[in-house]
Amino acid sequence: MEAQHVKAICPGSFDPITNGHLDIIERAAQLFPRVIVAVLENPNKKPLFSLMERVDLIGQVTAHLSNIEVSCFSGLLVDFARRVEGNLIVKGLRAISDFEIEFQMALSNKKMAPEIETMFMMTKNEYSFLSSSMIKEIAHFGGAVHDLVPPQVEKALALKFEHYF
Ligand code: ADP
Repeated sequence: MEAQHVKAICPGSFDPITNGHLDIIERAAQLFPRVIVAVLENPNKKPLFSLMERVDLIGQVTAHLSNIEVSCFSGLLVDFARRVEGNLIVKGLRAISDFEIEFQMALSNKKMAPEIETMFMMTKNEYSFLSSSMIKEIAHFGGAVHDLVPPQVEKALALKFEHYF
């Protein structure tokens, strides 16, 4: 698959998007001509930010990237990828703890959709410990998150947790 024919998909819950996610998205946008950030709607999870809030925040923090599109999906990622004619799934890897589940998901996706490739990018050193759930916990208790999320997300978190201050 030649890079100019790649339509890459960066999937995730993004509840909310962090600098770790953004780093992976920016690197994918440098490598490939088209990147779709695909926000998962998981009815079994109760997110802090609604689907529309998550999509909106991602749109704001990726506004400087001209080849990014934000979309949402529920169900199987490979079905979504086929629907939008995506041919590459790009995921970030933080630590060995991510590896097992990501390995399992990549192999399952390959079995269901052999024409779709999965690629992993190593996290940036300074974001290797960063997760959306940790951000929510810090923000919940009034801790500083400004080095960990874009300013728009910091503001949105402050609004969500306002009643705790
Ligand atoms: P989280 O695990 O923070 O809830 P998501 O489910 O939204 O994140 O993850 C979407 C994708 O982003 C996954 O491939 C995940 O490995 C990757 N990712 C999440 N946080 C980071 C980070 N700090 N650095 C690199 N990749 C990350």
